[in-house]
Amino acid sequence: EVRLRFAPSPTGYLHIGGLRTALYNYLFARHNNGKFILRIEDTDQTRFVEGAIENLIKSLHWAGIEYDEGVFIENGQVIQKGDHGPYIQSERLGIYRKYVDELIEKGHAYYCFCSKERLESVREEQKIKGLVPKYDGFCRNVSLEEAKERIAKGEEYVVRLKLPPNKDIKFHDLVRGDIVINTDDVDDQVLLKSDGYPTYHMAVVIDDHLMDITHIVRGEEWLPSTPKHVYLYEVFGWEKPTYVHLPTVLNKERKKLSKRHGDVSVEDFKGKGYLPEGLINYLALVGWSPEDNEEILSMEELIEKFSFERVSKTGGIFDKDKLDWVNGHYIRNSSVEKITELAIPYLKEAGYIDDEFVEKNYDWTKLLVHTVQESLSTVAEIVDKVDIFFKDEVVLEDEEALEVLKGEQVPVLLAAFKEELKNVDKIDEDYAKGLMKTIQKATGIKGKNLFMPVRVTLTGNIHGPELVNIIYLFGKENILKRIEYIEE
Ligand code: GLU
Repeated sequence: EVRLRFAPSPTGYLHIGGLRTALYNYLFARHNNGKFILRIEDTDQTRFVEGAIENLIKSLHWAGIEYDEGVFIENGQVIQKGDHGPYIQSERLGIYRKYVDELIEKGHAYYCFCSKERLESVREEQKIKGLVPKYDGFCRNVSLEEAKERIAKGEEYVVRLKLPPNKDIKFHDLVRGDIVINTDDVDDQVLLKSDGYPTYHMAVVIDDHLMDITHIVRGEEWLPSTPKHVYLYEVFGWEKPTYVHLPTVLNKERKKLSKRHGDVSVEDFKGKGYLPEGLINYLALVGWSPEDNEEILSMEELIEKFSFERVSKTGGIFDKDKLDWVNGHYIRNSSVEKITELAIPYLKEAGYIDDEFVEKNYDWTKLLVHTVQESLSTVAEIVDKVDIFFKDEVVLEDEEALEVLKGEQVPVLLAAFKEELKNVDKIDEDYAKGLMKTIQKATGIKGKNLFMPVRVTLTGNIHGPELVNIIYLFGKENILKRIEYIEE
């Protein structure tokens, strides 16, 4: 059975790159009927952010990524499930300590007492010499006896990995192929920090082993750290997992997606009105493609088609236009009820409607959404698309639209329109459907000459949604107001 894990650090939000990592883990686990685990890597206490775990879980849940073990929210509480727990690293300190001690005893790790200042000056010197900064091994020679005495006296320490000199560390990566790195190029990694917490490198190895993880799927920024992890597996005598390092998600300028350059968190995308199906479908394609190059794929299809063989080595480009296109597909294919529910908060936020309005005019609101649904790439876009229905006046700025209104038959047409409306109290859908025919009969004007001036009069634009819908949505009063405005 395969067992995969997503192991984010709770730094405040779920990055879109993190979501893709979670997704690939999830797809592979499900494809193989294996297990998927959510573990929280919170060993860096300086980066602790209140509410971050809840946030992560909510984002994964929204995206439709489910897991079998780990950290969940139930009745508003963070809880843990599964028989490999705890799944929050800060609750596993005793476990790490035990393995750190084992490494020290076996001579694979050592206490280090170097001060920050010393480490700093060593690094400076190395930089001046043009070397890659690396711990110089100063405390390797401190005997275990001396170390224990110094600790007993209260001296601060860390524990470092003792790598053998000039040893090739080899491992295979399903995306990157065979990788060999010499220990001379690897730092004596700190495994246990002075605050008693393990570093990521120590904790990740212990946990992946104890949690029976078979495949480690993570961002390529961790590739340089992997030799240290592999070495630890070797000295513990544990079976190594399979490694998969994913290409970084880049923007169009081939830079890492960062907060400074726009949206990066899953919450941002949710807030902009992307559907989880759209975001997930698109993200799956950032760095992977199915054999048939199909671009619209449901979660089920992704699970069926996913494999690491088709993950690319080079960075996946995050193309917002493509995302919008994919998302638009899912909006068009959603029920109008669903999009209406999602759209209402944006319309309220824009000040167009309120709860009372929605309650009284739900069908109207639904038709409003339906009228523009086809044209939306995100739900948030609805605000701009329907603003004409919430303005008192028509904005006439478009050159072509102004040209239409100069038509010779326009005054006759508008007069007939007004005349006809006098006969009704209220425009219902059926009446709206018949109205243009009625005007045509009354005036003899037809086709473009009929539709265009009416459209421009009502919306100020030559393009837009279905005219019948526009007529119904505006209703009698608004239409009359607009005709009079144009006539003046
Ligand atoms: N905690 C690491 C992160 O935030 C996890 C890396 C890994 O999956 O090993 O990216």
